[in-house]
Amino acid sequence: MSIHFACTLCGKCCRSMKLPLTTGEAEAWLLDDNELQVICEALPEMPEAVADDQRAAYRRRRAFAAHSGQLTIQVVAILAANIGGACPHLQPDLRCGIYERRPLVCRIYPAEINPFRELQTAAKACPPEAWSQERPLLRHHGELVDAHLRTLIREYRDRDAQDAERRRRLCAALGLDHAAIADEGFVVYSPSRSQWRRALAVSAEVLGPDAPAAPWHLVTNRRATLADLTTRAADIVARRATDALAGPAPAWEFLSFLADDL
Ligand code: SF4
Ligand code: SF4
Repeated sequence: MSIHFACTLCGKCCRSMKLPLTTGEAEAWLLDDNELQVICEALPEMPEAVADDQRAAYRRRRAFAAHSGQLTIQVVAILAANIGGACPHLQPDLRCGIYERRPLVCRIYPAEINPFRELQTAAKACPPEAWSQERPLLRHHGELVDAHLRTLIREYRDRDAQDAERRRRLCAALGLDHAAIADEGFVVYSPSRSQWRRALAVSAEVLGPDAPAAPWHLVTNRRATLADLTTRAADIVARRATDALAGPAPAWEFLSFLADDL
C-alpha cells in the first residue's frame, strides 16, 4: 500500500513522549538543561536456533554484552529525552526552536527508525489531512521514497550501534543495573542533571582496560519468565508494574507492556 504524506506543522508530534537520542544529541539536550532518561531492556542469551532471528540481531547490534547471575545477556540502553507536555524547544508558533540541530528522530518522523516496526498512520500524531492522497508519496511498495530520509534512518541506526559501548560506560558511571526483558517492557532511569554531567564526562574517557562489568538484574512481572530465568541462574527481580511505590522513590521505574502475572 502506498502512503502519501506532508507535514502540516501542527506540532502534535512534539508533545508527551520519550525521544530516543544519539549520545551526541543527548549531551546537547542536557546542555540545553532538558530532562534525559535511560530506558533499559535486556535480551537473555538465545538458543542457537533463535539467535539467527533478524529482530534479535537488530537488537544485538545496538546492545552491549553483560551478565545477570550466570546468564549472558545483551543490554539495550536507550538515551531518551523525557518530554512531559510540549517539547521545551517547541515555539509558540509551533515551529522547532532548534530546527537546524534538531535530533535525527525528529527529522525522521513519522517514518520509523526500527526496521521491524511497520509505519501505521493511525498510530502517528499527524492529522488525517497530512496523509491525504494529494500529498507527495512517502512510501511505495513498502519502501520509503525519499533517499535523504533513508540516509537519515541509516545514520541513526549506525550511530546507535557505534554508541553502544559508550552507553555501556555511561550505565556503569551512573550505576544503572536493572533492565526489563525485551518485549515485556522497559526499566526507566531518571538521573539528575549533575549525575548526568559527571557520568558523561567519565564515560567519554577510555583510560585502559575497563573494570569487570557489573552484574545486571532482570525485571519481570511474568510468572513464566521468572521460572525460565530462575532455571537459567539469572539474577531476576519479580516486580509488578502496578505495585504501589512505598517509601522514597525508587531509582528506577518499571513500565510493562504486559499485564501483571505474579
Ligand atoms: S526538538 Fe524540535 S522537532 Fe524535536 S520534538 Fe522538540 S520541538 Fe519538536
Ligand atoms: S504531527 Fe505530523 S503533521 Fe504534525 S508537525 Fe508532527 S510530523 Fe508534522
